[in-house]
Amino acid sequence: MGIDYADLHDPNAEYTMRDLSAETMGVTNERGGGRDVEITDIQTTMIDGNFPWTLVRIYTDAGIVGTGEAYWGAGVPELTERMKPFLVGENPLDIDRLTEHLVQKMSGEGSIQGVTVTAIAGIEIALHDLAGKILEVPAYQLLGGKYRDEMRVYCDCHTADEADPIACADEAERVVEELGYDALKFDLDVPSGHEKDRANRHLRDVEIEHKASIVEAVTQRVGSRADVAFDCHWTFSAGSANRLAKRLEEYDIWWLEDPVPPENHDVQTAVTQSTTTPITAGENVYRKHGQRRLIENQAVDIIAPDMPKVGGMRETRKIADLADTYYIPVAMHNVSSPVATVASAHVGAAIPNALAVEYHSYQLGWWEDLVEETVIEDGYIEIPEEPGLGITLDLDAVEEHMVTGETLFDEE
Ligand code: MG
Repeated sequence: MGIDYADLHDPNAEYTMRDLSAETMGVTNERGGGRDVEITDIQTTMIDGNFPWTLVRIYTDAGIVGTGEAYWGAGVPELTERMKPFLVGENPLDIDRLTEHLVQKMSGEGSIQGVTVTAIAGIEIALHDLAGKILEVPAYQLLGGKYRDEMRVYCDCHTADEADPIACADEAERVVEELGYDALKFDLDVPSGHEKDRANRHLRDVEIEHKASIVEAVTQRVGSRADVAFDCHWTFSAGSANRLAKRLEEYDIWWLEDPVPPENHDVQTAVTQSTTTPITAGENVYRKHGQRRLIENQAVDIIAPDMPKVGGMRETRKIADLADTYYIPVAMHNVSSPVATVASAHVGAAIPNALAVEYHSYQLGWWEDLVEETVIEDGYIEIPEEPGLGITLDLDAVEEHMVTGETLFDEE
C-alpha cells in the first residue's frame, strides 16, 4: 500500500490510493439516457479581454459539446491538456466524480489551490453545460433547481480619476440611470495624495477622511436607488481597517471588501467582528476547504467566492451551503466572460443565499458579443431555460478577440 509519487506525473498511471475511475466505482455506461456518451476531446481558446479568459470545450462521441471557462489564463491551457487523458472515454454526466478524480490525479501538481483548481473549474463548468444538454435541462436544474428567475448583477465601476469623490458620484449616477444597475462597487484603495508610505499599510486620519468622502459622495447620490459596495483589495493594516470600517458605519454601504491582507484569518475575523459595517472577503481562497475557515470563524458578513476560480459550479454550491449553515449570504466575485458569468448566475439561481454576481467589463464594449444571447439586461441576468448554460458562443467574435497565437477550437 502506498503511493508511487512518480506515477502522479504519469497521466496513464494506475492510481493506488483512492481510485475514482468509473471502472473502480462500478459506474457503467449501459443504462441509456446519456450513460453511453463518452468524452472524446477537450480544447481551449484564450480570449484577450480586460482579463485573460480561457474558454474550455469538451467534445463527445454524441456530437454534443459543452463550453466552460477557467479563471485567468496563464497555465490553464497546458493544465487542461495535461488532464485530458483523465477524461477521454469517461461519461460526462458524472460531474462530481470526474471533478474529484481530477483533483486527486492532480494533487501532486497543486490541485488544492491556485491555477490547477481554476483549470479544473473550467472543465467542471463545461461538464455542467454538457450534462445539461445531454439531459435537456438547464444547468441550474443539475444544482437542485432554482430559487429565483433572474440573478442580480452588480457593476464594478471605474472613473478616470478614481480619487475624485464627485467623479465617482457622477459615474455612479450614469451607471444607475443609463445602464440600469441597482447595485454597484467602487474601489476604495485609491491614492488620496496624503500617503506617506503605502508599504506599511497604515492609514492616516486624513486618508480615512478622503475615503469617507468618496463613500459619502456616492451613497448620497445614488444610495436611494442602488446598493453600493467598496473594495479595498487587501491593502490596510488591522488597526487601519478597524478605524476605516468604524468611520464608514454612518453610511449605508452594501459591504466593505477585503480591507486587510487575505492570509491571516484571525485578523480578518477581528476586523469583521469589530464593526457594524458589513465585511466581505473570499475571492483569494480556493475550494470549499479554503473558504471553510472564513465561514466557520464567521470572519465575513458576506462570502465572495469566484466561481470559475474556486473550483466550479458544484464547488460554489457546496461553499454556499456551508455558508448558509452560518446564515452568511454569497456575493459572487466575477471578472469573467459571458460564459462563466452566466454559469455563476445558474449557481446564484440554485442557492438560497445568493446576493449578486459581479460584472467587471462594462467599459470593454464587446463583452457580450462573445455569445449570441443577451446576457445582462437592466442589471439582471434572466436565468436561461435552454439546456446546459443556455448560451451559444459567437465563434467569429471569439476568433476576433483571441489572444495572439491562440487557435480557435473546432466547431460543434
Ligand atoms: Mg475584490
